[in-house]
Amino acid sequence: MSRGLLPIDDARAIVTRIAGRRLGTETVRIDDALGRVLAADVVADDDVPRFSSSAMDGYAVVDPGAGAELAVVGESRAGHPYRGALGPGQAVRISTGAQVPDDARAVIRQEDVHVQAHDTTIQTQVELTPGENLRLPGEDMRGGEVVLTSGMRLRAPELGAGVAAGAGELTVARRPVVSVLATGDELRAPGEPLGPGQIHNSNALVLRALVTRCGGEPDRGQTDVLPDDPRATEQALGEVLGRSDVVIVSGGVSVGPHDHVKPALASLGVTEHFWGVALQPGKPTWFGARQDTLVFGLPGNPVSAAVTFSLFARPALDVLLGAIPERPPLPEAELAQDVARNPVRAQAIRVRLEMRGGRPVVSPTGAQGSHLFTSLLRADCLAMIPQGEGRLAAGTTVKLEPLPA
Ligand code: AMP
Ligand code: MG
Repeated sequence: MSRGLLPIDDARAIVTRIAGRRLGTETVRIDDALGRVLAADVVADDDVPRFSSSAMDGYAVVDPGAGAELAVVGESRAGHPYRGALGPGQAVRISTGAQVPDDARAVIRQEDVHVQAHDTTIQTQVELTPGENLRLPGEDMRGGEVVLTSGMRLRAPELGAGVAAGAGELTVARRPVVSVLATGDELRAPGEPLGPGQIHNSNALVLRALVTRCGGEPDRGQTDVLPDDPRATEQALGEVLGRSDVVIVSGGVSVGPHDHVKPALASLGVTEHFWGVALQPGKPTWFGARQDTLVFGLPGNPVSAAVTFSLFARPALDVLLGAIPERPPLPEAELAQDVARNPVRAQAIRVRLEMRGGRPVVSPTGAQGSHLFTSLLRADCLAMIPQGEGRLAAGTTVKLEPLPA
């Protein structure tokens, strides 16, 4: 490690320690909870399924012997249970998911009966064991059981289980308000024509998308782009610092004469916790805080910005949300090909993960320059190449990190 550059894990430990605590909670309708982080356990309010139901379309019967001739005495449809009695020698026609009559001991599948006399009689063709094709109450969840735990991210399956457990509202973590500012005289808005030396500002959009994807709330109504000017930089940062849980600035954190972010933050009273990580891409990453507001200065190169967001800002959001940290698709995998090492910095390379010969392997997405957007396309995760001399050989096992997209 070269002097002054912090190992990635140390930098991340500082970020999560300073982030410190979960923000408050709020209650939302379960319909609005997609992507939120649960802040209180969800307990099933009753057994699920709540009643004994049929796993098949067929006939509910008391005596499931083969060859019996049974009189069809009624029907139980989903949402419309059969209310009468059911005795030996009788059957109730039943649909999948419909409530099974109290006395029934099994359901015969539609395919396993002969229907006679316009559906008034059936003849069973198979021997059934009691309980066959029945779904029992509480098979999925027991009343009072914890079904979803605090810290879970609410995706479609969690929402479904929550609804089944009887929840109409959920207690979720307040979303951290995150201001994203891009710096650079060269930046133009998406779609705008470009003059000489100008480029499109992709970082603001990408970083806001990543913030949203990781459970934060991008701050609205601020200037997107700061010119490379000390006063304008300080003024814009001053405005957002007061109203944000997290401020993310892209660009302007290197050592060039036009990099004004660090001095501006210093004069605004933001304490620096680190600047410079032994990471490629992402060496000039800056992190600091003022009271409860966290500030990330991410390098301007688009890949560096996305990678450093993933390695440092995402874990901070996890802490603020009280979220179970996002994991990579696998903890580690083998390199599919040799990779040149960097003697003084670990590398976070963008990789595709696939199985080869029954083993998980990762291959770089292509050229890995920090200005190459295309290296992020179709990447499944990051693979961490420890710093060192020479090449890391194909077949070496490397650690993986999530790359939110
Ligand atoms: P900087 O960190 O300000 O020195 O910028 C490093 C490189 O990233 C330069 O080539 C910038 O033009 C580019 N860059 C900076 N900000 C952005 C942005 N918002 N969107 C796309 N590229 C950027
Ligand atoms: Mg710049």
